[in-house]
Amino acid sequence: MELNYHEALTRPILAAHGFGLGAQAVVIAGNWATDIWTLGPLASTAQGRAVSRFHFLNLSTPEEIAAQWIWLEAHAAQTLAQLPSTYIALRELGQMLHCVQDFYAHTNWVELNLAAGATTVPLWEEGPVAGVSLDGLLSAYYPDRAAPRREVEHHRLHKDHPWCAAGPKTFDAALDAAHRATELWLPRFVRHMPTPMRAQVSRLPRFMYESFVLASVGWIDRLGLPRWIGGGPAPWSNPTSSL
Ligand SMILES: [Zn+2]
Repeated sequence: MELNYHEALTRPILAAHGFGLGAQAVVIAGNWATDIWTLGPLASTAQGRAVSRFHFLNLSTPEEIAAQWIWLEAHAAQTLAQLPSTYIALRELGQMLHCVQDFYAHTNWVELNLAAGATTVPLWEEGPVAGVSLDGLLSAYYPDRAAPRREVEHHRLHKDHPWCAAGPKTFDAALDAAHRATELWLPRFVRHMPTPMRAQVSRLPRFMYESFVLASVGWIDRLGLPRWIGGGPAPWSNPTSSL
């Protein structure tokens, strides 16, 4: 899913859960960084490889897809309880929300349920509608080339934007499901954060956001990418304008 959609999904839900602008910005930056670390030369670094798990890509069987959800919950419990700083915990939270959202963009869960007559695509946790067999569940392969195992090439399966191969209606259904999934998972993740850290999210200072954006602009320049890559309100070009 493109970065502006990730942001549009995430920001209002964070606000509804009491995250102030500083904390929202770090979560969004962590969410975006999940994609940025997967691009170009950064993908082959140790951190790039570690972050690549958070897209629901390159999973070959329905069992691997199910296992990724279990891993995500365990990862949240393990990391959010132990991280030394609120800043790092919020960045991790952004990555985990990215993962929840990308399930609906990078697997054929949405298509399977729509084809079986779903008017609203169920969340993974609710199970598929009647008539859907999980044996048919597939994930996309990235980088975008012929998939080595049972996955589907990324460009054929993704619902990253409305002009994807699946079409705008399927994209809308994926976005809607990702929105409900974010509402479900945000409190599930946050409850793993220590109480003092949870108390900070409403009043985290803005300077954290600005230093994160400046670091991120450095990665984007190194990759030779245009700074508008973030989409949405484009904080890359003016870190303070959107706050
Ligand atoms: Zn992604």
